[in-house]
Parts: sequence; structure tokens; C-alpha cells
Amino acid sequence: MVTYIYPEYMGRFRCDGTVCGSRCCRDWSVAVDPGTYEKYREMEPEDVRDEICGWFSGQDEKGNYPVRLREDGRCPFLREDKLCQLQKDYGEEFLSDICYSYPRMTYRIGEIVEQSLAMSCPVAARLLLGQEGPLRFVEEEREEQRRGWQFDMTDKVGQHGEDWQDLQSAGIWLLQDRRLTLDQCLFSLQSFYRRAESLLEAGDSMGFGKLLEDVESGEFSLRALEEGHEGEFSRTGYLHTMMELFHALYGAPSDEERLGALLGIYEGQYPIFAKQLLQERRSLFENYLSNEFFLRFYPYAYPESMEGNARIFVLSWKVMEFALLMMSAQGDMDFGKILLGIDRLTERLDHNRDAMRIIREYLRETGGFLM
Ligand code: SF4
Repeated sequence: MVTYIYPEYMGRFRCDGTVCGSRCCRDWSVAVDPGTYEKYREMEPEDVRDEICGWFSGQDEKGNYPVRLREDGRCPFLREDKLCQLQKDYGEEFLSDICYSYPRMTYRIGEIVEQSLAMSCPVAARLLLGQEGPLRFVEEEREEQRRGWQFDMTDKVGQHGEDWQDLQSAGIWLLQDRRLTLDQCLFSLQSFYRRAESLLEAGDSMGFGKLLEDVESGEFSLRALEEGHEGEFSRTGYLHTMMELFHALYGAPSDEERLGALLGIYEGQYPIFAKQLLQERRSLFENYLSNEFFLRFYPYAYPESMEGNARIFVLSWKVMEFALLMMSAQGDMDFGKILLGIDRLTERLDHNRDAMRIIREYLRETGGFLM
């Protein structure tokens, strides 16, 4: 038996290629795991095996087998009716680990399995981001049927023993504090991990316990804001960072003239953006952030410290926020357009290995603009 922990909305998710046009079966490079490839190589009859194996041209550096897409970008096994030929003919067991798993991201910590859904799946995004209430979690024990594609985080969280779950939950708790603006939540998130890290390093378990209590009672955020910062980000630092990151990510211009133009757009647009999107659609963005935090397994997503992870998380969000801000300068943002903006950037960050490296390097080199 394994303990599954997943957000409640995930239980309502049903993959439906006819709704999204089989979004994940086109344009994305998919590499099949060696176990599945072996299964294909042993199939009978021979002509079916040759037809299937003919779409693989060799092993990549990770030992997987990339599928060659058709000229129009479709997966060769995607049928006209948007169903997968392999699944239709041979059942789910014949899907590769990645096809079986997507859009689920799965982490294993001993006998605990945490799962959530990637927002690059339009059906999952609509389901989560359309809900008003905060992200809530389900915990249940059941037999593990098939593992699929998963990351084993057992060693990574081992440094914090039993506390890793409290450390993860506290981050989500802080993001869901609706008394505060999103920027203030993000500020207190960073403060929390810095404080938690120093207490744990000092072996101060009483202090750590009190810190968790203060997070739960809502005291921590208010005190952090009072003590350090009003929870606002420096405008010029923010724009400068975004300009440099969009230059690195998309080749967008990066010079004084561009900075001046961005400042103009920002001054005109940000107050409207903050009110009409960030405030009025608070639940959408809060749920996006809470899901991302859990989905990427923060504060352990990257080798950096917990505070370092919090900074990466915040900067990734700021990149998303900036893209949405720029879109909003071109016209009204209804629910569909917000989803489109989130979808485009999520795809960029998920499918461009360089994107997160650039964000992390930027933070390492500059210390960021955040505090
Ligand atoms: S997983 Fe999501 S993107 Fe892929 S076919 Fe199903 S609904 Fe569409």
C-alpha cells in the first residue's frame, strides 16, 4: 500500500483529446523508456512490430527512444479521431511511461506518492484555474498499480527528516493567505524559508515548531511584512530583470530604449492589471501558484537551499506575470486569454531546458531584485 497525496481537482480530471485537439500528442518531443521500447520490439506479428519500431531512430543520452513525429508535427500513433492507436489496439499497458503519466507529475518519498497535474494540459488548466475555492488536498492509501514516470525524492528530503511535509505545506499555506496581496504572500514565503533554514541548521526544534504555529495562525506573514518590507517589488529592478530574462529566453531586445518603453507600458498598465487581474481573479492566480509549488516539489525542486528554491519559484512566477501584463496591454484579458498566456509560457518553461537554467543563473549572479 502507498499513501497518495494529490489536489482534490485531480480526481475530477479526465483526459479528453477531442477537447484539446490532443495537444500533448503533437509538436512535443516524446522519448519512450527502454522497457516500453523492448515491449515494442518483441511484438508480433512482424509487420506491426516493424511499423511501430520504424518511428524510433535510436537512443538519446538518457537511454530513452525519441519518437519521430510526422511532417505536420503529429505523433505517428495519433489517429484522426484524436485517440492513440497503441492504446486503442493494445491497452494502456502498451503506453510508454511518459504517455501513461502525462499530465501527472509524480514524486515518490518512501511510501508516499505526491501527484499533481501540469498546466500545459488545457483540460487540467481549465479545471483548476476555473475553481473559486483554494487548492485542497486528498490523502488516501491504495495499491500502486503502475508507477509510470516519477522522481524519487526520498534522499533529497532526507536532510529534514519528518519535517519535509510541514515545510512543504507551510509554503502552500502562505500562498493561500487571502488577507495579503500575491506579492506579499511571495515575500513572506521567502522570509519563511530563510527563517526555517536557520532554525533547522541551528538544531532549534522548539523554535521551528513555534515558527510553524505562527504560519498556521497567520502571525508569521504579518510579522514578516512589518519587520522587513512592505511586500512590494522594486519597479526598475523588476523591469530590468524581465528585460534581461526575456532577452535570454526569447531574444527580445535589451537596451536602454527598450527599458524606457517597458517603463511606459508598465506605468500605464500595471495599476489596471493589478486590479482587474491580480485582485479580481485572485483565486485563479493563487491556485496556479499553489499548484506549481506542489507540482514542482518546492522547496526541494532544485539543489539550491530552501530559500534559494523559494526565490526561483518567485522569479518564475514574475516571468509569467510579466508575460500576462504585456498581453493585457494589447487588449482585455478574459478567462480564455489568461489560460492561453499561462499555456504559452508554461510550454516554453517546460519544454526548453535552458529556461530554468537561465532563471537560476540569473539569481546566482545578481541575487535577484526581490528584496
Ligand atoms: S493529457 Fe491533456 S493535453 Fe493530453 S490529450 Fe489528454 S486532455 Fe489533451
